[in-house]
Amino acid sequence: MIKRYVMTPGPTPISEEVLQEHARPLMHHRSPEFSRIFVETTTKLKKLFKTENDLFILTSSGTGAMEAAVTNPFSRGDRVLVANTGNFGERFKKMCGRFGLDLIALDYEWGDAVDPEDIRKALDRDPEIKGVMVQFSETSTGVLNNIEAIGNIVKGYKAILIVDAISGLAASDMRTDEWNLDIVIGGSQKALSAPTGAAFITVSPKAWEMIEKSDMPRFYFDLLAARSYAGKTPPQTPWTPGISIIVAINKALDMLIEEGFEKVYQRHRALALATQRAVGKLGLELLVKNEKNRGFSVTSIKIPEGIDGKELTKTMRVKYGVTVAGGQGKLTGKIFRIGHLGYVGMFDVLTAIAALEMSLKDLGYIFEAGAGVAEAQKAFMENNYLNE
Ligand SMILES: *Cc1c(COP(=O)(O)O)cnc(C)c1O
Repeated sequence: MIKRYVMTPGPTPISEEVLQEHARPLMHHRSPEFSRIFVETTTKLKKLFKTENDLFILTSSGTGAMEAAVTNPFSRGDRVLVANTGNFGERFKKMCGRFGLDLIALDYEWGDAVDPEDIRKALDRDPEIKGVMVQFSETSTGVLNNIEAIGNIVKGYKAILIVDAISGLAASDMRTDEWNLDIVIGGSQKALSAPTGAAFITVSPKAWEMIEKSDMPRFYFDLLAARSYAGKTPPQTPWTPGISIIVAINKALDMLIEEGFEKVYQRHRALALATQRAVGKLGLELLVKNEKNRGFSVTSIKIPEGIDGKELTKTMRVKYGVTVAGGQGKLTGKIFRIGHLGYVGMFDVLTAIAALEMSLKDLGYIFEAGAGVAEAQKAFMENNYLNE
């Protein structure tokens, strides 16, 4: 037997409490019992998103909510701006192309963050832009974009702001209403640590105005249908939802609320900083050079010279039982990523660093054995998240 650990930026480990809820006998989705859970879950999600806007739970992976965000507000041929910092920015671009939008791409180096002033310039240059799309945490690089600053800019224009917060939500503070975010997307399997298969989307009044006028074909992800069913008594979904997933999400939210959102963010920050320090001690280089652009969900680490990236992640997974993620898109083989979001604590990080060290040794990389683990321990003992 080899005990297995998942340290990827999604899916993330699920607690026993949440798994037990997930295993409850199936309820009917139009039953009063499910209805109560559905309403509760939606209310708690609004707390997490810090919003009073409408919020819908979609039964799909996060990409379904991205598609809903692209197909609902816009009409064919509308001009949109994608601020692209990595693989998920690329996904927004592909979707916009597929749905016939007139795309302007603001492409950054992978590992860099959006400069909010670039968005202001683009909007000033082109008043026809109807929407701006951006990732909060760009999971392929580990960058956390400054959504507050971007929201402050976009609110002054006719464009709506669409934020993919799938991997940032519940790891870092995100304030939908205070930051003027029109559409925000989340997913079940990242920092919420719930089963895969549900996504969330919030809609501001400014976005509803556009949705009501849109001529884009859509069916399953039609937010007008979602709104109409949510308005019934009791609130419902237009199609059969992922009932067991929602029951599990409700429990996952209880756990976050019990810990306290502020504490949850502090924990993620402590895990990220310990990971960064540990890999630094091993002589490894972080992809995100500018410290202030580094998010707290995932750490991207460059594969050192002379080491095969595929072999490294394979050794960690097969020989030592620790699954981390490789690079995506053009970073394939160039980086690996340690996810430290969701139901994860300091000993998970120590486990990942230990497995990394053992695998690096196996592959002939030269460093002082134990240095990374010791540094992570030191980071945790110095961080007051433990002492409060
Ligand atoms: C995971 C992720 C997605 C895609 O979610 P799926 O659930 O795999 O469809 C989109 N954006 C970001 C930032 C993500 O981290």
